[in-house]
This record gives sequence, C-alpha cells and structure tokens, in this order.
Amino acid sequence: MKLKILKFGGTAVGSPERIQQVIRIIENALLDGPIRVVVFSAMSGVTNQLIQISQQASQNDESYLTTFMKIEQKHLDTVKTLLEIKNQSSVLANVKLLFNELEDILHGVFLIRELTSKTLDLIMSFGERLSTYIIYECMHQKFKDIEYLDLRKLIKTDANFGAAQVNFKLTEQNIKIYFNDHPALQFATGFISSTLKDETTTLGRGGSDFTAAILGAALKVEAVDIWTDVSGMMTADPNKVPTAFPISQMTYEEAMEMSYFGAKVIYPPTIQPLLEKNIPIRILNVFKAEFAGTYISNQIMNNQKYLIRGISSIPEISLLRVQGSGMIGVVGIAGRLFTALAREKINVILITQASSEHSICVAVTRADADRARAVLENEFVLEIQAHHIDAIVIEKALAIIAVVGANMRRTPGIAGKIFQALGNAQINVVAIAQGSSELNISLVIDEAMEKKALNVIHTMFFEDQLIKSQEKS
Ligand code: ASP
Ligand code: MG
Repeated sequence: MKLKILKFGGTAVGSPERIQQVIRIIENALLDGPIRVVVFSAMSGVTNQLIQISQQASQNDESYLTTFMKIEQKHLDTVKTLLEIKNQSSVLANVKLLFNELEDILHGVFLIRELTSKTLDLIMSFGERLSTYIIYECMHQKFKDIEYLDLRKLIKTDANFGAAQVNFKLTEQNIKIYFNDHPALQFATGFISSTLKDETTTLGRGGSDFTAAILGAALKVEAVDIWTDVSGMMTADPNKVPTAFPISQMTYEEAMEMSYFGAKVIYPPTIQPLLEKNIPIRILNVFKAEFAGTYISNQIMNNQKYLIRGISSIPEISLLRVQGSGMIGVVGIAGRLFTALAREKINVILITQASSEHSICVAVTRADADRARAVLENEFVLEIQAHHIDAIVIEKALAIIAVVGANMRRTPGIAGKIFQALGNAQINVVAIAQGSSELNISLVIDEAMEKKALNVIHTMFFEDQLIKSQEKS
C-alpha cells in the first residue's frame, strides 16, 4: 500500500490556531490516502527559548524562571484552547509532569552552574515532546486510531551531543520492527534521538526534517511532505530578491546545493536518505495549503523554462590565501592545508587553486577566519620562514553567491552570462569555483554587493529570459 509521511515545522504548530489548521491539513491528506507518520517540530521559538534559559540557569541567573513559566503557560494555554473541557485534565496533568521534570533539570543546572551539551540536548528534547504530545491529544479527540511516538526510542545515534550522527542500520531495524507492531498512524517527535545508552541526543538545529527523512527511507514511503511557512524552495531568498518565486520541480542534487548554500527551507542532511531510496519530497506551505509547492525527485525536466534553477548566497565569508613560489609542483601542500583545518574543526566552504599552483584559496566563515589563519601559519611555519610560502592573507567581508541548476551541465555560456550580469553592475568577482558536476557555479564577491549580485543574476536568468520566451510564444 502507498503510504506518506508528513512533517510540520515550528511555525506551522506555533499557536493553537495554527495547530487547528495543521489538523485540518492532516484530515484532508487522510482523505487522499493513508499516512504512516506525522512528524512535528517544537512550537516556534521554543527550542531557542530552551537554549536561552539553560544558559541563564548555568550562569546562576534566576531570571531563567520567568521565561520557563512563559513557555509552560504557552503550552498549558494551547491545551486549554484546543481540547474540550472534559478531556483537559489528564492532558494538563501530563504536560505539568513534563514541566516539573524540566524544572528539576534546570534547577540542577542552576545549582551546579554548568551546562554540558548532553544536558542541553535533554532540555531541548522537551520542545518536541510537548508539541507532539499536545497535538496528538487534540487529534485524538476525534480520531482514535493514532499513537504518540517518542522517537528517542527508535532513532539511535553516537554521543556527539548537539549534532549526533545516526546509526542508520540499527535505526532502520528499530523502525521496521516498531512499525510492524504498530499499524496505527504515529504522531512522532522530530529532532530527538538517543545513544546506545539511552541518553537523549539531537540531530542538529532544524533536524526535524531529517527525522522525517529517516522514517521515510526506513519505511519506503511513497513521498515525504514537509509542511513549512513558505511556498517551497524559491529561486532566491525573497528577503533579498523581491522578484523571487517558488520552484515547482527540482532534483535532489539541486535541492542539496541550494540548501547547503543558505536556502533555509529544508535541513540539508534530509535529502540524502530519500535520494538513496528515490522517495520524492514535497515542500508545502501551511498558510497556502492549496499551492503545489516544490516537488523534489530524481527527474530532470528537459523542457525546462529557465537555464538555471536558483541562486543562493552565504554572507560573512572570509577568504584565506596561501601563496608562494615554493608551492609550485610541490606535492602535499593542499593535503596538509586541509588536514590542519580539519583537525581544528574548521569547515571549508569553497576551494580554488589556479593551475599554476601558485596559490590556494579557501573560504571559511568569518567566525573561523582568524583561527584558520593561525592554524595555517602554524602548519607552514617552516615554509614561511624559508619564504617558500608568503604570509597568509585573509580577505574579510565577502559573500559567496551560488548559481545552481542541473541544466548547466549541457548548456554552454551560463558562466558567461553570470559574469556579464555582474560586470554590467560593476561587481568585482574575487574568486570562482565550479565543481565538475557543473551543478553549481560559486562566486566570491564583496559582501556589500551580495543583494545586488543576487538581483542582477536573478533578472538575467528569470526575468529577462521569461520576457523573451513570452515574446516568442
Ligand atoms: N526544534 C528544533 C529546532 O528549532 C528542530 C526543528 O524545528 O526542526 O532546531
Ligand atoms: Mg525547519
């Protein structure tokens, strides 16, 4: 039988009214066909607030209690608004129990003035446990054949608290066994998981999307529907490009490129498990439920209207340049450079090396830049002393613009058009990278030009082109 998974993000479940809307969406979807699981995020803002009060408590700052009470009130009010009075008392009691437990943990943090990432994961887990439990109870008033599922039971990870790595083999087994025994529709917690010792872990901020993907892949569902607060993946960030519009269809690879490069619609690791099993993802808007959103699958449309799929960007980038005449033809410099950065857990966002081998540039976040330079100066201290490598140069206040599209593979001249658009707008390109997959052309430019660059490229590929094709037809 064909089954689906739905996932609702924090804004979708952020208030009692929105939860009602979500329940209507679930009811409608059920008319269309069976749903196996619905995954929920914490109510919007709650994860951030939980982090904030944990930090306050660890600094022995009593004001954490004020926010704690606000969070508690918000959840209790949600129950009171959504449940009939006769159903309220047991649910309120359960919610209270959760808050008592949370209060005890926070009090512990307050007393010992220490917040480990392990404790923080446990504290954050309350967000999803509360939202999911409450929504489950609301739906349960009318719809009996559902169950609440705390996915810490099934999703097993390593002990890398804060961004744990999933043990897919074990997790998949757990999921299959559990779902075999539980035919009812499951209302499941996003974001949270546990170690082999049953300590609570989390899958990284925004990780509820990933939860849906893990379930979808294990259960081989027909599709995973991610319900969020925008109408899908957009051609560019609409806050920066007012003319951006939703992309109706894209490939997994394109979606991955777009999401790694700053389009925050979907948590990037979500795509991989679904790509492997060829399960399509739909991104849908709870506020415009009738809109088709974005459909992500392995199909490349040949009669695509536009040459590219989208443009995204990352601001606050710094570029480190390692250069020197002593690098030419020397084996192992790049290897040492990346190993040194990796050892310090510095993430490299983009790399370029000219074929003269005279210089290597790596882009890192601004926050990592000074540390990265220190690491490289240390790694190449002998070469720098011997003048084989010059001093390591950092350029700050840059942005990366990434132009994404599977069609670029077959179409010559796209890079030319991008440079033409930037050149006309007097925007200087500091560095360029294109992977041989030709899925993404990335350009490093001055940060102050980010918005302008996005807009001129968007106009070139999506607006001017559209006008031309309309003229033709
Ligand atoms: N609640 C978690 C967060 O805010 C997970 C999610 O919403 O996807 O990061
Ligand atoms: Mg999200």
